[in-house]
Amino acid sequence: MTAIWSVDTEKFYENAVNVAQDNQLMAVVKNNAYHYGLEFAVQQFKKVGIQTFSTTSLREAIRIRKLAPDATIFLMNAVYEFDKLRAYHIQMTLPSLDFYYEHVEDLYDIQVHLEYENLLHRSGLKSIAEMREVLIHHVQNKNEQRMIITGLWTHFGYADEFDVPDYEIERKAWLDLVDTLLTDGYQFDLIHAQNSASYYREDGVFPHHTHARVGIALYGSRPYSDVEETEIKQSLTVKGNVIQVREVNQGDYCGYSFAYEATQDETRLAVVDVGYGDGILKSRAQHEALINGKRYPIRALMMSHMFVEVDSNVRAQDEVILYNNDIRVDEFTFKGVGANSEQLSAMNHDSLIKEYR
Ligand SMILES: *Cc1c(COP(=O)(O)O)cnc(C)c1O
Repeated sequence: MTAIWSVDTEKFYENAVNVAQDNQLMAVVKNNAYHYGLEFAVQQFKKVGIQTFSTTSLREAIRIRKLAPDATIFLMNAVYEFDKLRAYHIQMTLPSLDFYYEHVEDLYDIQVHLEYENLLHRSGLKSIAEMREVLIHHVQNKNEQRMIITGLWTHFGYADEFDVPDYEIERKAWLDLVDTLLTDGYQFDLIHAQNSASYYREDGVFPHHTHARVGIALYGSRPYSDVEETEIKQSLTVKGNVIQVREVNQGDYCGYSFAYEATQDETRLAVVDVGYGDGILKSRAQHEALINGKRYPIRALMMSHMFVEVDSNVRAQDEVILYNNDIRVDEFTFKGVGANSEQLSAMNHDSLIKEYR
């Protein structure tokens, strides 16, 4: 018995179909496709009809090229390996005015997407004036070998926030910028801005945009709690097993350093073979696990074990589910455990057995 991380391939595919609907998506496959596995995810998304992918690492971008020879691949971080970008036809962000002037010659034949900084302040050109400066400099650049301006993009920092006005502010600034540049007469093959939260908030892709740049929804977690559970379904299961069930009495301390004190005699504790070493977050262990269809409280979390307080229906070898579509990653996101991607990223793929069913 070992704890298992498993994905139901059919459910993963069906969810992606349902998320995409009739919209054009750029699938975000960074961090090994949110740890679902880059090869697996790209194959499934291709079956759905998605032909545009983005990631943050050049190494992954090159792996995507091998999996999807005809795809459009967009690298969201700037890199300095210009020959590789050309060799593998990887499009890249243009992250700042400084980067442009410094590498205007290195960038020849590379397709770039002008990035708008906006409220996240992680990367990008700072204003319409800076955008125009690049566009005008580029037009006036008579060098035969120059970069190719293919896209225009931004990334929102507040699309999953509803209590503050910041999303409306960044949204308006961005849509105004797009409008202005299109009115100027500039054209772009790709215009993209929306992550999962913005895609659902806007009920689809913004006007004039070619794609929404969606990650987490494609991996089965809702970006915010108002999205119905039936709209986005989780194909991932993470589960361990009951090794044995032990009885303890009132006042007994269980686990390391007084982790849990039993409050009643004949308290039944299931010892389960999964712990923080497998990537279960401490904050996740404040909540429950699912055994035989019923939820039971986790009482203590150790490196490769946890205690779950159970009743007489639970026995050795029963499965203990930490995550599946009935006890979802996004449920715990909304309970404050950590972002969807944070819970997924914590999983230890060296210790968990990995299965695609
Ligand atoms: C991760 C990421 C996305 C996807 O965000 P989700 O919330 O997972 O949909 C889109 N754009 C950029 C720049 C990202 O880093």
